[in-house]
Amino acid sequence: MDIRHLKAKNIKGFLGDDEAEQLYHLAKQASQFGPCLEIGSYCGKSTAYLGLGCKENGGILFSVDHHHGSEEQQPGQEYFDSELLDKDSGLIDTFNIFRETVRDLLLEDTVVAIVAKSEVTARLWSTPLSLVFIDGGHTFKAAFTDYTNWVSHLLPDGYLLIHDIFLDPSKGGQAPYFIYQLALSSGLFEGLSIINTLGILKRSLHKQRKDEELNKWFKQQINFSH
Ligand code: SAH
Ligand code: MG
Repeated sequence: MDIRHLKAKNIKGFLGDDEAEQLYHLAKQASQFGPCLEIGSYCGKSTAYLGLGCKENGGILFSVDHHHGSEEQQPGQEYFDSELLDKDSGLIDTFNIFRETVRDLLLEDTVVAIVAKSEVTARLWSTPLSLVFIDGGHTFKAAFTDYTNWVSHLLPDGYLLIHDIFLDPSKGGQAPYFIYQLALSSGLFEGLSIINTLGILKRSLHKQRKDEELNKWFKQQINFSH
């Protein structure tokens, strides 16, 4: 399986072709330095592209999802898909299709599925990560929680990727854009680009160092003025 074959597959999901290709390239670059993690596996589309990038380095992708769908994927909501409704439980269940995707693409030795809420997964997490892809719940609370829980696990120079960034509020919810701006204004990240709705940031120690130098300089100015 290579990227050309992968592109020919029709995997259920919410990801533009340009975004998918970026995920592949970024995971291929990042996974040399440590495992990657995604929040929001759904039926495995982003998993496929991130996973292939990791596989080519012998790396690992942790893929976190409770597999019961986000708010907007529930019955009666905009992104409801009746094929994903489990008749017995009455719940959305994407896990079977997700497993099929991972098996079909020969990613079983690369992808570690974590079937749990991302906030529960984060509770005892301690493994440093080379890439974090945030594409889970899109309420402000969910996006903010994912941002605060996972950012601290990024390795120096690690990638933070945020999906569904809409600069124009009429095009989509603003929670992902909000955490994107939060990351930029924290001074911990360098914004590399936004490809379609995929925000790409890099954890930058250099920037932090510059901020520390600036703080030192400010302190000196204050001391001089006294
Ligand atoms: N990345 C996918 C799309 C993800 S859709 C693709 O490429 O197609 C968002 C997913 O986030 C849904 O499957 C939903 O179940 C999951 N999700 C929402 N809130 C979550 C939470 N708190 N913990 C774990 N998963 C969550
Ligand atoms: Mg998305």
